[in-house]
Order: sequence, then structure tokens, then C-alpha cells
Amino acid sequence: GTVLVSAGNAAAAGPLYRNAHAAPQVRAHDLVGRMALAEQIGQMVQVQVGKLYGDCGGYTPGPINPGCEHQVLVTDGAGSILSGGGDVPGEGALPNTPQTWAEQINALERYSIENTRLHIPIVYGADVVHGHNDIVGTTLFPQQIGMGATFDPALVRQVQVAAGHAAAATNVRWAFAPVADVATNTRWGRYYESFGEDPVLTGSLAAATVAGLQHSGMVGASVKHFAGYGAAASGLDRTPTDLSLRTFQENQLPSYAEAIRAGALSVMVNSGSVNGIPAHASHYLLTTVLRRQLHFTGVVISDWADVAMLASRYHVAADYEHAIALAVNAGVDEVMEPYDPDSFVSNLTAAVRDHLVSRHRVAEAAERILLMKFRLGLFDHPYVDASQANEILGADKPLARTAAAESTVLLRNEHAVLPFTPSERLVVTGPAADSVADTLGGWSVGWQGVPAASAETAVTVLKGLQNAGGSNVTYAASQSDAVTALGSADAAVVVLGRGPGAEGPNDQRDPTLPADQQALVTALQQTGKPVVVVLIDDRPDVLGAAGTADGLLMAWRPGSEGGNGVADVLYGAVNPSGVLPVTWPKRATDQPNDYREQTLPTTYNGNGPVYDPAYPFGFGLSYSTFDSSVSSVASSHHGVTVRVGVQNTGSKDGSVVVPVYVSQPVSAVLVPAERLAGFARVQLGAGHSTTVAVHVPWSALAVVPGDVDASGSPRVEHGTYVFSTGPVTAAATATSGNSLQL
Ligand code: BGC
Repeated sequence: GTVLVSAGNAAAAGPLYRNAHAAPQVRAHDLVGRMALAEQIGQMVQVQVGKLYGDCGGYTPGPINPGCEHQVLVTDGAGSILSGGGDVPGEGALPNTPQTWAEQINALERYSIENTRLHIPIVYGADVVHGHNDIVGTTLFPQQIGMGATFDPALVRQVQVAAGHAAAATNVRWAFAPVADVATNTRWGRYYESFGEDPVLTGSLAAATVAGLQHSGMVGASVKHFAGYGAAASGLDRTPTDLSLRTFQENQLPSYAEAIRAGALSVMVNSGSVNGIPAHASHYLLTTVLRRQLHFTGVVISDWADVAMLASRYHVAADYEHAIALAVNAGVDEVMEPYDPDSFVSNLTAAVRDHLVSRHRVAEAAERILLMKFRLGLFDHPYVDASQANEILGADKPLARTAAAESTVLLRNEHAVLPFTPSERLVVTGPAADSVADTLGGWSVGWQGVPAASAETAVTVLKGLQNAGGSNVTYAASQSDAVTALGSADAAVVVLGRGPGAEGPNDQRDPTLPADQQALVTALQQTGKPVVVVLIDDRPDVLGAAGTADGLLMAWRPGSEGGNGVADVLYGAVNPSGVLPVTWPKRATDQPNDYREQTLPTTYNGNGPVYDPAYPFGFGLSYSTFDSSVSSVASSHHGVTVRVGVQNTGSKDGSVVVPVYVSQPVSAVLVPAERLAGFARVQLGAGHSTTVAVHVPWSALAVVPGDVDASGSPRVEHGTYVFSTGPVTAAATATSGNSLQL
């Protein structure tokens, strides 16, 4: 485990905040009371690590600049430093290893503790979103959307315990994860950073992430981006969101409620706007909803430079001083990357002087940040043993491989083309077949994905198939080579997908698989040999001709062991069990792309079903077959217990996701024809059957009642609730045994 090195004995007779035996709340309150206004304001600042190097301007490679360090940590008194996506402490000057991270962060801690008047440690933050993803050689897990496809909170928790451990080993104590936004538009550049489109699934996995990351007590999670971030009308990143308060309450907030209930120490704010107000300026979002309705007591952190943008991008404030006042009064406690920390400190000082912000509000924000630091043990154990940090390299590979295999979704398997046998001769081709960048995705040693020059490695699909199939697996770099090679082989594996990316640059106005990739599939099919498509992609791109392949496996961004996990599934060592956490659209224009938006089964004038996907939410094949049906429904004060009988009717052992959907034959408010209310996973031997109890919390049945002007929080209405299992199809019918009268 990570070795903690103590800062020295807590003096028995020193100030109360130094007493390691006192409660964190007591210590934070004592400390904040000793601080000058400027010191409290300093705690509210989180500065990009690049600003400590070179010319203090950020993004400047070079050795640490003692002048910049003193300015940021002591003169400005910044409470926190971060690595934004791809930022490395000591960028350019150091090899990017866990040990160099730990040494650099330890040194920053030491500088802050030894040189600030009250000896206050910093808290160092980074985007630990699928492992410790800014460091070359660390084990990377599937991106969130792949973990969404597992429907497996226990696995998500295990993965995040490993990620939290890796972060702590380098003294990174603040992880900007999980994304609790639901994603409903495949144009969005951050679609893959979500757990999918469903609030119940997202809530369960976001809570599991928080529990995992925070497991050691050394790392705080930051649930992001509060709230409505995934629901922009255009689908493009950081463009306006317009939501009825009903939709906001029913679709956007439940996942946050779960993550907060799991104990998340911080929440990060949505960089966009909701109903005409930038979220960073919204007292309604950040105080009324977050603090009063969801009872959040931790730190609210801004997103990157977003407080300044209230003036410079959104023009809801005339100048920086007013922008700061707006954000701080709305409820922002910590300001990520204020661009110029000196001017943040002087402008917030001016805002207090001008009575735009109260002294009390500043003290409250600083106290919350200090409380988080006390809770994370930073005052008592600010350093880690850097000499042990490299032990995280190569750790947890079996877990990453399991996660990769479990995250794949088998969409098509005509004539049982899969699994392959070891003696089959395979031709592997396609743009993503041997691409490390595609396998890892964005936020992996580079914000937009792995840069070409990087030393980063990953097991690609080609390498994974070669590991399993040896000399029976050959690679063809071009379409004509692949067609020729297939002549003397048994089947083709075509690995397709758009390259990686993140945020706005990764928005796709036309989320369709590129024409040349579709043409590659067609050319291979013309040989008459079986063609299996493996997609390595951020989103369910509209497939076109690629959708007609004999086999189709969605592998998302499977991480550093991804190719091994994919090979495990293609060769049948693992029976696929992942199911779609999203709807796979038939047309690029089918947006928003969300089964819950489909509150009516058919259009008015016989123009077909409203929900008409290529593959529905919850779809996924196995090498076995399963039957399931609801056997009983019972309620208690905790919620509803739905018992589902499940049988493995095939000839292979396997795991299966057991979803429970709820529908209402009559409801005063339009509700989705079916909505996910709970789920379980079961492992069943061939021919075996079992009954599983699926817990449905009352919150999963709740809606916001009332007319179109309804606000308020969701509650459970009187009426009949029908529970069903199996794929999303049409509204289930009530038969005795599967319904509940409330
Ligand atoms: C993203 C956040 C991220 C932050 C720090 C922002 O641009 O929106 O999700 O945590 O950068 O890298």
C-alpha cells in the first residue's frame, strides 16, 4: 500500500487545528478563524501546474521557477494546484513517471507548508477518469461509457479503488471524476465520458465510482458537471441547455443525488448554461438545488477558467470583479484555473470591500476546502514515499483486462461466426486495429488522446488477437492487402472507429461511421468470407454498410489491456455480457438519442414508432441464450423488490444483465413508455436457472407531479406500476404478479 510520511508530531499544546485527534470539522473551523481575508481567498484558488514553471504563464516546459512557485503558493496563497488533461508537473523537464509526479507534488506540499504563515498544505488535483491517465505506463481502464455497458457497480468500484490507489501513490488527492451527466446526443464530444443515457444506471455507477476513488480516505472525488451538462440542445459541448424543471429533476439530478449520497467530497460545475443562466452564475443550481434539495455539504469547484468566462464568454457580468462575485454568491467555493491568480485575489478582495461578497461567504468557502484537506489527512500526512510510486506501473492488469472484456457489447453474430476457434486463420485490418491512441481514447497522456510522439503503450486489438491466435493472425495495413490476404484466410476482423478526442474538438456534427470505413467492410464482404467488425469508438456512430457485417462487437475505448479483453471475447474465453448503456441510433438525425424521451410509443399519424433505433438501450448478445420473467413484486418502506426468474437456456456458461423496467398504464404526467428502475447481473451455468431479487428504490418511480409550470422535487404518484424485464420494446402490460398498486 501507499506509505504515508508524517509532517511531524502534532504538538499537544499547539493550535487546535494542528491536533490530529480533534474532529476535522473542529480543526477546519479553528483554522479558518485564524486566517486573514487574503489567506481565505487564497484557499479558493486552484492553479494550473504549468504556472509554476518557465515564465509562470502556464503550458511552459522547463524547470520549476522558484519565483513563480513563491508567487502562487505564498503570495497568492493558492490552496490547490491541478494538472488539467495532459498537464504534467515539471512538464518537459522530467520523465513523466509516477515517481517524478510524487516528488514534484511532495515538493509543492513542502514549499506551501514551510512558507505559508499557518503552514497549510495544498491539495493536488487531476483528471483521474479511467485510471491515473496523465502518466505514461499506468494501467488504464475502459472509459466510462464502456464501464456503463457492464451494468456492474461492483466492478466499477473495484476499478476505481485501483485508480484511487494510483492517484494517492503520486500524492494526487483530488480526482475530477466521475461524470454523472447523462448523455443523450451522440454529437457530443464528451459522450463517451458518461455512463450512458439512463439516470438510474448512471447514478448507480457514479456512486460506485465515488466509493471506489475515496476508498482509501486519501482521495476526494469530484462529481461533474453540475448539472444538465449533457443535455445541450445542439448536442455540441458547452452550448445552451434548455430544460423544463420537470425533465431536469427526473433525468438530470437523480445520478447526482446518488453520487452525493455515496459521500462525494466535491462537485464540479457545468461549464454551460441552463435555461439562460450560466451554471456558474446560478444560485438556483449551486445552492437551492445542490445544497438545500440534495443536501450536499462538500466543496463546489468551478470548471476550467469558467468564473472569468462569466464576463469574457457569457457577458453576464461587466467585469472580472462582478463575475467573481456572481459565481461566489451562486455557490462556487473553489475556482479552477482563474487564468491570473493575482488578479483573482485582488478582484475578490475588491468585491468584499465593495460589499458585493460577504466576508462570511469567503470564510464559508475556505472552511469547506480546509475541511476537505483535513478529511484527506493532508495536515497530518502531507507527503507520500516517492520511491514507491513506480510500483503502480503495470499494476492491476488482470482487472483492466476483465473490465475491457466485460465492457464489450456483442450486437450481431450471424451464423454464430463468433467465437472464433484457435485454428481459424484471421486477417486483421482497419484504422483502429493497431492504434494505441484509439484504444485508450481522450484523457490519456494528452487531453485529446495519446499524441503520436508519446511512449504510451496499450494492447491493441491486433496485439490481443496475436497474443491469443499466434501465427493464425495476420495484419493487413491496406484495403487491397486485406482483400488479398482474406482469399487464403477464414475470416476478417475489421477494427473501425473515429479517432480519439475530448470536449469541443471532439464534437461530431454528423455522427456517422466514415464512408471509407463502410467501404472497407463492403470490399471484404465481396470475398464471400465472414467479416467481423470491432468498433473502437467514443459513441454509437451510425453504421451504414458496416452494420451488415456477420459479427459486430462494440468495444468503446477499452483501455491499456483492451486488445486482450476483446480477444477474450472474440475467441470465447469470456462470454460477452455487456449491454448498451445508450441507444444506438439508426440515423444521425435521431437526436436526442434517448429511450426515455420517447414518452409515446407511436407518432400521431401512423408515421411509425417514435423510438426506432438500430439497437435499443439494454441490447447485447451472449454466446448463450437466456430467458427471464418477473415472478413477483413486493414493496416495503425501502422500495420495491422485483423477483426475476432467469434461465440460461443455451449451452455455454455466462453472465447476464437483468434489467427491471417500470411502466404506468395511467399517469397524470407523461412518463417514458418504459424506464429502467433497477438491475442486477447473474452468472449462470448452461441449463441452470435462478431467481434474482432486484431492488428498486422509491426514487426510481418518482416524477414531478403537476401542470406544465410544475417545479419541486419528484415524488411517487398513486397508480399502477408494472414491472418487466428483457429488452426495451413497448410498454409492458399488467398481469397478476408483475404489478403494484400504490
Ligand atoms: C473539463 C473538466 C476537467 C477540467 C480539468 C475541463 O475543461 O470540462 O471535466 O476536469 O477541464 O482538466
